Formats: sequence, C-alpha cells, structure tokens
Amino acid sequence: MSRTFQRTAGIRILAAALVLLGAWAAYTQNQTTPRPATTQKVKDGLYMISGEGGNVAALLTDEGVILVDDMYDRNYAAVMGQVKSLSEKPVRYVLNTHQHDDHSGSNAQMLAASVEVIAHRNARINMVALKQPGAPRVTFTDGMEVHLGGKEVRTRHYGRGHTGGDAVIYFPELKVIHTGDLFLTRPTQPYIDYANGGSAIEWTKALDEVLKLDFDTIIPGHGPLSDRAGLLKWRADFETMRSRIGGMVRQGKSKDEVSQTLIKDFGWPAGGLAIGQVDAFIAEMKQ
Ligand SMILES: [Zn+2]
Repeated sequence: MSRTFQRTAGIRILAAALVLLGAWAAYTQNQTTPRPATTQKVKDGLYMISGEGGNVAALLTDEGVILVDDMYDRNYAAVMGQVKSLSEKPVRYVLNTHQHDDHSGSNAQMLAASVEVIAHRNARINMVALKQPGAPRVTFTDGMEVHLGGKEVRTRHYGRGHTGGDAVIYFPELKVIHTGDLFLTRPTQPYIDYANGGSAIEWTKALDEVLKLDFDTIIPGHGPLSDRAGLLKWRADFETMRSRIGGMVRQGKSKDEVSQTLIKDFGWPAGGLAIGQVDAFIAEMKQ
C-alpha cells in the first residue's frame, strides 16, 4: 500500500465519518419535539392552522373537513389536534399545494386514516421520484373541484413556479385562496426549486393567472395572512429581482456576484444558495 493510497483512504474514511455525523445531526434534530400548532379564523368556516411546516387551511362542512396541506409527518398530531378543536367531523380530503414535505409530509398518515389526498400530477411524480411517503392516489392536470357539504373548493395548476407541480386552492364563496409557496409573507424570499420543475420566468405568469381570481384574502405558503395588495407587491418585487439578475447574467457577471446580490440586496438566505438554485437560475436567465 503506497503512502498516497494510505493518505487518500484516510481522507475518505474521515469524509465518510463527517457525512455520518451530519446525517446523525439531522436525524437527532428531527427527533426534537414538534412545534405546536395554533389556529386562527380566516372567514366563516375557514381557518388557518400555523406551526412548524407550511400554513394549513381547514374548511369545515357538515359532511367533513377539507384541508389544504398537512405540514411535516411529525406535525400530524398537532394538525389533527387543531382540527378536532374546530369540528367533530372527520377530515375527508387533503389538497396539496405541492410536494415539499413541510406541506405534504403528513400525507401518509392521512391516507392511512382514509383521507383522500389530491395533488397535481407533477407533484405526485416528484414525490415518487424522491421516494417521499404519502403520494396522492388522486391527481389532476389543470384543475379539479371538490364538493362537500354544500361547499366547493377548487384546485388549479397555473404552470411552473415554485415547483413544476404547484396548485393554488380557491374557496370561491369565501373569496379566499391558498397559494402554497408561490407566495410567502415570512420569509418573503422565493425559493425556485429547479430540481422539481420550478421556474423564475414562468412563476409570475402563474401569479398573473391567480390574480384573475375574485379573492380578497390569501393564506400564503408560510407567514401571516395577506391580501391582493400583498400579492401584487410581492409579484412586483419578484420581477425586480428577476430583471436585476437577468441583467447581471447578460453582462456576464459571475455566479459569486449573482449570489452576493441575491443575499445582500434581496435577502436570500446564504444556505439556500448552496443547493444548485443559483446555477439553475443563471442558466434560465441565459435562455
Ligand atoms: Zn415549498
């Protein structure tokens, strides 16, 4: 065995140990107590449940409850506890806004409890590819309606944005929408999940379709409730960011310069830039 080989092997073992240490740290972090959930009324019969994962909407009907999203797997008890405080009726449907597990992580437990889970077909494709438990049995391409207890909920796909399988859920009688992560109020920075079909160019086109709906109140993917003015501002800010980065890309600025601009001028989290998002963003801006 040569000295070089010994040294390489030693480095490899050290690297493997560090990977294991990282996995262990992630595992133990997941073992910490899940954060409790709280509920606030949005409109008559419609509530927003907030907690560790994305915002959950709960529509109460005489025939059961319709949820939009279900947070992480570990938040199932917290979400169901909040639902039970609102209604004695069972949860009948969960409509996923997209496949990220802070929005669809409790799907498997919902399915086990005979709840029907519905998502865009691309969200299901992403979940299956990621081996994420709880892939929905019912999917749609453009849109679908659920009718329960005399109430209607519409789920619609307006194209690529946060992922390639985003859905916006509309409660027409109440003039409320749940945007999933196509719109956020805290944090406010978009995350373009290119690995799962996201697109910065298509994102605002999807929002323009959303803005054609008749609504006055928004349950965002994360953060406090908002309204039409909040979404309009957020869309304008997104476009400002995109044209600035597009300009930098056309001027041949480096990935590092683009990253620094996103962090310093647009408040993007440094950690969120490390997972290939900037490379894909630059590539899309070159198209
Ligand atoms: Zn997401």
